[in-house]
Amino acid sequence: MRALMTSCDVIGTMADVFVLRDGYGHEDETGTYRANCTISLIKCPAMKINVLVDTGSPWDRDFLVAKLTEHCLTPDDVTHVVGTHGHVDHIGNLNLFTSATHIVSHDIVSRGDRYTLHDFRLDNPYRIAESPRIDVIPTPGHTGRDVSVLVRAHDEENVLIAGDLFENERDLTDEKLWKDNSECPEIQAESRRRVLEFADWIIPGHGRKFRVVKK
Ligand SMILES: [Zn+2]
Repeated sequence: MRALMTSCDVIGTMADVFVLRDGYGHEDETGTYRANCTISLIKCPAMKINVLVDTGSPWDRDFLVAKLTEHCLTPDDVTHVVGTHGHVDHIGNLNLFTSATHIVSHDIVSRGDRYTLHDFRLDNPYRIAESPRIDVIPTPGHTGRDVSVLVRAHDEENVLIAGDLFENERDLTDEKLWKDNSECPEIQAESRRRVLEFADWIIPGHGRKFRVVKK
């Protein structure tokens, strides 16, 4: 009988994307705005690469460690941390990951104070891995220097972990949902249009993963 695979099993040179928490954003019954970001994990056991994309807020520390434990990981096993942009719910736990290279917006820092300079352009992504392909690409607009992570998943589909480039799936038809939070709506609209051409799935900053329907 074939044993069931767990999230801790090595499954070859593949990248698998796990959403550790779906982000959200809404007003509660008292009119207070409540929001927290989507947290995603890319695992490639054969390459010993574990990429955490967005780290939640400072109050998510215990939650985050517990979620990593479910994947048989400690914070020291995380090799790369990507903060899609500098808002507090996305970068609240960076200092849990002192063994990782940190990519926050366009800053790339490893081993304490060592910066890597990189000219972020769509035709010049910051490549975390070649095979399977894991790229950090510039997707500005929500802020001036947002990045997203593009993963070629094991099923040959392109998964884009997009931060707040997309608020949630509903913002495809209700643009107020993303425009109200945008520093540069015109630039963000162009970033959104571009990625929808090649992404098969989008993991948005404050909603559930959704499939891109090609027109
Ligand atoms: Zn944001």
